[in-house]
Amino acid sequence: MMHARSRAASWLWAFACSATCSTSWAQAVLPFTTTPPSSALVEEEPRIWGEAAEADKVIRKSGFLLADPAINAYLQSVMDRLYPEFKDAMRVRAVNDPQLNAFAMPNGSIYVHMGLLARVQSESQLAAVLAHEGAHFVHRHGYQQRSSVKSASAFAGAMIFLGGVGLLAGMAAASSVAGFSRDHEREADRVGFARMIAAGYDAGQAVRVFQILADEARALERKDPYFFASHPRMEERIESYRELLKAHSGPPAAAMDAEAAFAERMRPLRAHWLERGIAAGGYKSMIHALTQEGAAAHFGSHIGYYLGEAYNRRGNDGDTGRADQAYRQAIDSQPDFVASYRGLGITLMKAGDRTGARAMLQRYLEKAPGAADQAYVKQYLEQLEKQP
Ligand SMILES: [Zn+2]
Repeated sequence: MMHARSRAASWLWAFACSATCSTSWAQAVLPFTTTPPSSALVEEEPRIWGEAAEADKVIRKSGFLLADPAINAYLQSVMDRLYPEFKDAMRVRAVNDPQLNAFAMPNGSIYVHMGLLARVQSESQLAAVLAHEGAHFVHRHGYQQRSSVKSASAFAGAMIFLGGVGLLAGMAAASSVAGFSRDHEREADRVGFARMIAAGYDAGQAVRVFQILADEARALERKDPYFFASHPRMEERIESYRELLKAHSGPPAAAMDAEAAFAERMRPLRAHWLERGIAAGGYKSMIHALTQEGAAAHFGSHIGYYLGEAYNRRGNDGDTGRADQAYRQAIDSQPDFVASYRGLGITLMKAGDRTGARAMLQRYLEKAPGAADQAYVKQYLEQLEKQP
């Protein structure tokens, strides 16, 4: 891990230093029109691609990728539909990380975090993110960015944050929505929008998906240089897609992938996000996501259990009461989802309701006779018996 991080750091350092130390070498470049042969790369571009390929290796070896070939193939198919002439140039991979994030590297590697995948509601929304990220590659923003003095501070910022926020965040910071210049962002919006229309997607969903990101940023009060960290930038994306939508006067897109079919495809990933989110401690993000309108339809009716877990583990003032309510809702709507009884039992124990706690924990043991945590729950029950 240290090794991985230090290699990533040197990659980022090269990125930052190029921007700071050399400001005159990058020439104006035309966008790629097809998968570029290495002879099409100019000046420092081959080296930049080499560094990005190194970073790819680091990410792969670090075990951050989601081992789900079906999801990766699906992401790639959406990208190929958006950019058919770049089939071998852009490689999309899902990252096993619960945060809402996506980033493009200068060599055409596109990473989409599981957190973002779990939150998008339709293929068109997913396409909006991929079309935007793809535009950064096709228009060679990663390379051009290095010629901008202004961007140097952003990369220096990424360097400072790297130690604190970890490898992926550092990578993302160096090549994400927050990292590119305003003009490059607008270009990515414009190109991404046009690609969505050409591929038959509902381009209006671009507004919706960036709204989801902006809301999340606001709820989390994010200040880090992540994908959605910069609130004004994210608001700019929404505004920019709204304007593009207003100016567009084509026929409405045919339904590409019905929301229900998309939900079915994403169901295991959404369930995985709930588990990972709890394990990774992203309670604020989970509470935000699970209290949105339509959350039960999106994640399934047992979300009350995960909401209860998030409140329970966050432990702010009033969270015990909120957890209690969430578990009870989960039990009402899905009485066979047994973990809710355990959650409610522990919550009642915390609240001092020993009779209620005993009843719920006993019900859990009855309903889940083969559960791995039987012994652990029995210990709780023994404690409850012992107390006067
Ligand atoms: Zn962008």
